[in-house]
Amino acid sequence: MATDPAAELEALSAAGLLRVLRPLDSPAGPQVMRDGRALHNFASNDYLGLAGHPRLAESFIEGVKRYGAGSAASRLVAGTLAPHAALEEDLAAAKNAEASLVFSSGFATAIGCLPAIVGSGDTVILDKLCHASLIDAAKLSGATLRVFPHNDVPKLRKLLATVRAKDASGRILVVTESVFSMDGDLCPLLEIVEAVEEAEALLWLDEAHAFGVIGPSGMGLAAQYGLQERVTFQMGTFSKAAGLSGGYVAASRSWIDLLVNRARAFIYSTAPPPSLAHATRESLALIRSSDGETLRERLRANIRVLSPAAGSAIIPFVLGSNEATLEAASRLEAEGFMVPAIRYPTVPRGTARLRVSISAAHDQEVVAALKNLLPGS
Ligand SMILES: *Cc1c(COP(=O)(O)O)cnc(C)c1O
Repeated sequence: MATDPAAELEALSAAGLLRVLRPLDSPAGPQVMRDGRALHNFASNDYLGLAGHPRLAESFIEGVKRYGAGSAASRLVAGTLAPHAALEEDLAAAKNAEASLVFSSGFATAIGCLPAIVGSGDTVILDKLCHASLIDAAKLSGATLRVFPHNDVPKLRKLLATVRAKDASGRILVVTESVFSMDGDLCPLLEIVEAVEEAEALLWLDEAHAFGVIGPSGMGLAAQYGLQERVTFQMGTFSKAAGLSGGYVAASRSWIDLLVNRARAFIYSTAPPPSLAHATRESLALIRSSDGETLRERLRANIRVLSPAAGSAIIPFVLGSNEATLEAASRLEAEGFMVPAIRYPTVPRGTARLRVSISAAHDQEVVAALKNLLPGS
């Protein structure tokens, strides 16, 4: 690799893999302004349109007025304020778990927790398409890393049997996602839970794209299948459907107590602003209310307009090459639609794609107009 960063950037650019920041000139929402142009935004993960919801903005402001701007310390030192504790109680109840713990982001949740759960002498078994945060967290843990082909439960069972046969006592952590972030498909959760239980392994389920969207009162795929008590760690984020930011994990009381003692991204990081925790409680309440249900119905209707067979709000159009995908994205942008071109290393080489994310906040006519411009229509 070149020592000069400029040469490295050149190489990225030549391969169609250069990324640049492009600030919006408006708030996030179904319609945004960029470079002076109005664009319909199909690039955000704001599935319920809550990022711009007045109730959350008001609650954020109320939180600042009540609790101040910052938390001033890490959680274990002096940074746990009433809203942090209340949010963790609300969330545990909503997730049917004994306890929960919140982090600054979903990424920090993974990086903090996996190395606290497994280490040298243990094994992590990941689905091939797991999110970067889970891969990095697994590497950081020092445990032996194994990968099973995407959603391939027979292969997972085989791996579990092999690992168990070699070492009867080490922890085995199986890691997968409810809704895969770049493909939008779901994991076969019941089969995975059964395989994990048979091997006496632990299960980490990342519900990032399911939280708020799937299951009774939006509480995710484990809730949908009534499997919450059989998923060891229900992880998710407040950065997508919940419209804010932050991550969480819900688990048994003793696992959460252990994470409080061992998760370095939790221990050595300043607590998120109390106002954010306050607003997140409001978001959780909204998601679980009949208003939340109405938003989920609107989201499902919008998804049906674009793709009747889709299982989630993430709809990929795989074009293969980086160049073709970048070109398709700029054609859409010229027509007034913002749809991201997703490339390696976010997805495997040769599978570059347009990734459409649908929101309840989109107008159905706009979704229909986008459909007419997408490949295959
Ligand atoms: C977005 C995402 C995360 C990270 O969550 P943040 O709160 O954005 O840091 C983790 N896992 C998956 C599957 C994601 O899509």
